Amino acid sequence: MAKLPVSVDQIIEKYGPHKAYAPKAGFYGSHEPDKLVKTHCCYCGMQCGIQLKVKDNKIAGFEPWMEFPFNEGRLCPKGVERYLQNNHPDRLLDPIARVEGKGFEPVTWDYAMNKTISEIERIQAKYGRDAFAMLSGVSLTNEKSYMIGKFARVALKTANLDYNGRLCMVSAGGGNKKAFGLDRSSNSWADLAHAEVIIVAGANISETFPTLTHYIWQARDNGAKLIVVDPRVIPLARTADLHLPIRPGGDSALFAAMLKILVDNDWLDHDFIESYTSGFQETIDAVKDYDLDWAEEHTGIPKQKILEAATLWGKAKTSFLLHARGIEHHTKGVENVLSCINLVLATGRIGKPYCGYGTITGQGNGQGGREHGHKCDQLPGNRDITNPEHRQYIAEVWGIDEKDMPGKGLTAYEQIEAIHRGEIKGLISICFNPLVSLPNNNFVREALEKLEFYICIDSFLSETARHADIVLAGSLHEEEEGTVTTAEGRVVKINEAITPPGNARRDGQILMELAKRLGVENKFNYATSEDIFNELRVASKGGTADYFGITYQKVVDNMGIFWPCPSLDHPGTPRLWEDRKFKTPDGKAHFNPVRYRPASEVTDKDYPVVLTTGRVVSQYLSGTSTRRIGKLVDQYPEPLLEIHPKLAFQYGIKDRDLITVKTRRGEAEFPAQVVETIRADTVFIPYHWGGVHAANQLTIGNLDPISKIPEFKVCACQLIPTGKVASALTTKNAYQSGV
Ligand code: SF4
Repeated sequence: MAKLPVSVDQIIEKYGPHKAYAPKAGFYGSHEPDKLVKTHCCYCGMQCGIQLKVKDNKIAGFEPWMEFPFNEGRLCPKGVERYLQNNHPDRLLDPIARVEGKGFEPVTWDYAMNKTISEIERIQAKYGRDAFAMLSGVSLTNEKSYMIGKFARVALKTANLDYNGRLCMVSAGGGNKKAFGLDRSSNSWADLAHAEVIIVAGANISETFPTLTHYIWQARDNGAKLIVVDPRVIPLARTADLHLPIRPGGDSALFAAMLKILVDNDWLDHDFIESYTSGFQETIDAVKDYDLDWAEEHTGIPKQKILEAATLWGKAKTSFLLHARGIEHHTKGVENVLSCINLVLATGRIGKPYCGYGTITGQGNGQGGREHGHKCDQLPGNRDITNPEHRQYIAEVWGIDEKDMPGKGLTAYEQIEAIHRGEIKGLISICFNPLVSLPNNNFVREALEKLEFYICIDSFLSETARHADIVLAGSLHEEEEGTVTTAEGRVVKINEAITPPGNARRDGQILMELAKRLGVENKFNYATSEDIFNELRVASKGGTADYFGITYQKVVDNMGIFWPCPSLDHPGTPRLWEDRKFKTPDGKAHFNPVRYRPASEVTDKDYPVVLTTGRVVSQYLSGTSTRRIGKLVDQYPEPLLEIHPKLAFQYGIKDRDLITVKTRRGEAEFPAQVVETIRADTVFIPYHWGGVHAANQLTIGNLDPISKIPEFKVCACQLIPTGKVASALTTKNAYQSGV
């Protein structure tokens, strides 16, 4: 086995500059591929169809997949470059183990497995089962998500399993369940194209879900009015009919004030409200004092614009409301989501053609990954781990005694807090890079350093993996078969194109081997991914996320099936609620009263500027893969501090000046980018980088009380010009920005 380089300098010395990475001349395009494999992009929740070109068991390029109905061949920059991750020289080819004082050394699988099992057993014997926790990711397939939920409860027997969807879609999930009793966007995106009015709230669609933009343009071509709610003039806002430049934290104030305008003008669907909803009166009572002056003060949006937005929405016959992390990443994320849903229900525009509501999932399997049991409070089919009937059903599917199934565990950030308290001593993570993606990441780093044993399954040595005792070389999207569920709720098929390189193994194979060594081989006896999916189908049967009627063949034949799909002869459900049978206990859609409250940290004389965070088009989440792809790095090589000229003038800041941004959690330096496309009281930093360039050194770890999502989208900061101008980025420091 080759020695693994352990420092940035060694990596660069051995493999050459990261930024320059590209396939060797003559590799791409110069040979006929051995095969073309129809599959999906590994990145965002759109899961665009793509065909991978395979040559000699390597991904050599791609071809558009024109027939796939969602994207019809279109891809964004990440999708175009995604094939480059497979042959990247940083790819882990062996399991590796930390050798104190020396970094990492490759080890045999047998050693890595034996060490892992002995540490799990030692920690659980000494501190209890729950002292060994697990964190997983929602870029994984449904099969792996399901298997991880079962692995944690049946093999590790720990309650403490959670996932990185906790940083993503859980506020939407919490709101959807309260309002509808089911957690999915209501329609396929096809309905968007014919909606009369579209509200996009807190969703930078053109950069984070670029191929969805096509549906908005179709709607615009058909005459739709577009309203964009965002503190920045994001690309979509530049052509919108109305841009509402909201102050971060003001979302529920905006939607509450709009609801009051609907009520005052009687722009309501009384039949729908009376026949199919509950909670309307309490909900409108909650907003009765929220007039336009109040709304302007609490949102920072001119009142005329709020009135205009409510009027467009109120008078429309068809409409679609979309939101994403911009309104969900808050300590009142669920309330923000509910305040959106209240607008949809008040006008009765759901469950009909061209009328809908949805959250746009950010991660590749953000939808399916939140349905099949790798959340701390969840069992497959979106069942509740505290519900005795649900527990009994899943215990029977898994062939265990219900009493042996652990209960509800801690959420992702709560696990970090529990490590600090000394309650969690061991951790296994898969496809999760919390050192970049969790808030207040100095606190996260300290936690990782306190663990007695940390094992990580990943394809690259991420920032978090660098703190592991053992890293198991896992698989990429193209190296394992399975399914994912797109942001629309469409279950699609991921096809294996190649086998894992070197001694890397498929993630599923690794989990099965660990389960075997933990003495539960008979519960993880799967010959194929389809075997796992068939067990998932049964486990989800009768749950709100019912996949029972979905088979691999059906997915392939139809290029995707929308759940719920309760029986084999069921065609799937692209549009929910046409039958008006909501999944709440009373069968009605629920209004929920939302009273505005401020963010958990507001500006004051010491920290006078609002800091918000988000993404850029060329990077995906914590950047473990995309920060390794040269062309994507070139597009946006380092995190910049977006600042409005007025605020910049106040501090004497010019483009490329190096600015220290300081919050109560930490401080970091960023080059300024002076732009007119942001509110003058707010600065923005993208969060895809780690180390000294991590925006999440600054963000706050306060959580929504229901969803436990952290408040990434608003905190208070100071701006301190350093007097230095940022030097041009070199290849080496571009690489280091990710270390
Ligand atoms: Fe499509 Fe998202 Fe991949 Fe871009 S990142 S190609 S929008 S799935």
